[in-house]
Amino acid sequence: MNLIIDSHQDIAWNMLTYKRDYTRPVAETRRLEEKTMIPERNGDSTLGWDAYQRGNVAVVFSTLFACPARKKELWDILWYPDFDTARKLYRDQLHLYRKFTDLHPDKFRLITSTGKLDSIVQHWSQPARDDEGHPVGMVMLMEGAEGIRSPKELPEWWELGLRMIGLAWMGTRYCGGTNEPGPLTDEGRRMLSAMADFNFILDLSHMDETAALESLERYEGPVLASHSNCAALMQGSDSNRHVPDRVIHGLIERGGVQGVIPFNSFLKVGWNRKNGSRREEVPLDTYIAHIDHVCQLAGNSLHAGIGTDFDGGFGLQSIPAGMDTIADLQMISSKLLERGYTETDVTNILGGNWLRFLREHLPQ
Ligand SMILES: [Zn+2]
Repeated sequence: MNLIIDSHQDIAWNMLTYKRDYTRPVAETRRLEEKTMIPERNGDSTLGWDAYQRGNVAVVFSTLFACPARKKELWDILWYPDFDTARKLYRDQLHLYRKFTDLHPDKFRLITSTGKLDSIVQHWSQPARDDEGHPVGMVMLMEGAEGIRSPKELPEWWELGLRMIGLAWMGTRYCGGTNEPGPLTDEGRRMLSAMADFNFILDLSHMDETAALESLERYEGPVLASHSNCAALMQGSDSNRHVPDRVIHGLIERGGVQGVIPFNSFLKVGWNRKNGSRREEVPLDTYIAHIDHVCQLAGNSLHAGIGTDFDGGFGLQSIPAGMDTIADLQMISSKLLERGYTETDVTNILGGNWLRFLREHLPQ
């Protein structure tokens, strides 16, 4: 079974918002939430340590995320009216990951260097002893950079283990984003030049096209898209959330990788759980088509990866038909082989590309 690396999961956000405990099996989380509002708001959970084990999911990019006040839902607790609050919310999540991995080193471990990455991969390459399983590696990724008030704060974030930063969610002080288009701001340009001094990894997901294209030109450090689908396959969508081919081409030229999301609303235009859309309308092949599109643009299988965003505002009810938990990402293998991809291609796409990228860009 291939090793899987998933480039986007809002673990801390779920732990704080819904008190989800990902050391638990998925089935137990679902059972505990059965009579709550959570399945309606966020869908049934698709994540849990048992499922990571079954699916050979060895590493996840674990986000720090809070939303600006103008976008919060009634039940949101992680929202900020100002940048001081944003800093606190993001910082709390960073400390949550540190505490969580300290408490459960047998199940989850932080990855901040290639040494730590390699020790996790090594662990997974050997058969686990009975009941013990393998520790899932977590690389911290800040989604929406408003938790950083100024470039002067970058050294402490780096020191605490943050390695990846996305400047946008909706629009931010740094650049245009989802539903709030626009370019990089001057603050955004200053942030990028400071990030490059540390070799922070820049996440283009959620950035508006103009901001993403300028970042690809300007940013001297490594670039990826942690959870984005292809705009070319979402014709008719009025959202700027999907990446245009020009951005994908730029990412490929810069040696980046794009994590593709198996979220039905980002696979079929008009699909919406709230309007009664059904899972059966979106077969797994629709997801594979986005992976294939990235590979066709690249002319190889070196730039596509998996970035599920699972449990990040949607759950079981909104993922392609036939999938139940994160363990089912392994189903992607046979689908790719059916399309004529080789075993090596499959290894690249499931985790090999992210592994190469991390080995190249994390500090030693
Ligand atoms: Zn997102």
